[in-house]
Amino acid sequence: MKVTEHIRKAQGNTLFSFEILPPLKGDNVQSIYNTIDNLIEFDPAFIDVTYHREEYLYLEKPNGLLEKKVVRKRPGTVGICAAIQSKYKVDAIPHILCGGFDKEDTENFLIDLDFLGIDNVLALRGDAIKSEIYFRPERNGHNFAHELVTQIQSMNDGQYLDDYLENSNPTSFDIGVAAYPEKHMEAASLQQDILYLKQKVEAGADYIVTQMFFDNDKYFQFVDKCRASGIEVPIIPGLKPIATKGQLSMIPHRFKVDLPDDLVVEIIKCKDNQAVKQVGIEWSIQQCKELKAKGVPALHFYSMGKSDNIKTVAQSIF
Ligand code: FAD
Repeated sequence: MKVTEHIRKAQGNTLFSFEILPPLKGDNVQSIYNTIDNLIEFDPAFIDVTYHREEYLYLEKPNGLLEKKVVRKRPGTVGICAAIQSKYKVDAIPHILCGGFDKEDTENFLIDLDFLGIDNVLALRGDAIKSEIYFRPERNGHNFAHELVTQIQSMNDGQYLDDYLENSNPTSFDIGVAAYPEKHMEAASLQQDILYLKQKVEAGADYIVTQMFFDNDKYFQFVDKCRASGIEVPIIPGLKPIATKGQLSMIPHRFKVDLPDDLVVEIIKCKDNQAVKQVGIEWSIQQCKELKAKGVPALHFYSMGKSDNIKTVAQSIF
């Protein structure tokens, strides 16, 4: 079932959902099942599976020269989505990127999803790969997520890349897109970022999922600004209970979000990561209680390979 149908059917009740990463290449799928088994009792409406594009490694050869090797550390997004839908009967949402895909690759990816009975996607641009400063699209690929949304929407309208196809099967993807209550790191201003977000909605996006945030006011203000700009689709908040002291610097660095002073002070006081985990859980419970009371469509958790703390939060909320 589509995400927007889940939201409609919930009739104002807040849904539970979470995001997982495919296992590192060489690991088996059991780690994913362990995460899902830990959270399945809370009846997730959908489970997102991230997509990880290629990275370049430089390996030293015996003669001292460096060899450039292309690797994908976490392949398997589509396979895991199919496995989740078959094993748990829960809707799985593959993430799909502009980066690393040309339009033909995108079309083939979507055809595979359609044949597998996967009718949700989260459409993203992707970040620049580690060896580049700025994002570079593939030749004949997409520069921005709104172009990717346009391609998916065209397939939903029965238009494939080959113009000569007649009576082609229209796909039926519910399209999610990303948003950033604290502004995307490359955006010149939050308002301009919201205008580009609106462009994604006008291209066909059915709902929005936000980057993680730790201060609910930032989410509420962001939603108000989106509504004032004419964005009417559901805006699902993204959440992450902090679990380690290292995340105090990792999260702002990687995700370009701020942590509130009160949370930082509490974490710095902690003697070990067990105590940090407890602070993170309590903070997240307070965030979730307020968001749920305000009637957000879903509480969407970034598991980043850890589910015990999400389980404790969910026990208090659902
Ligand atoms: P876009 O919407 O294309 O925006 C990118 C930047 O371009 C923004 O600064 C925007 O303001 C600007 N912009 C947009 N349109 C225009 C325009 N027409 N003209 C000029 N500027 C424009 N990354 C992964 O690699 N894999 C994942 O699975 C993944 N999942 C994610 C899930 C969520 C919920 C979120 C919030 C992020 C996720 N990301 C993932 C990270 C995401 O790929 C990066 O944040 C990326 O840098 C931006 O993607 P986007 O889709 O928001 O890009």
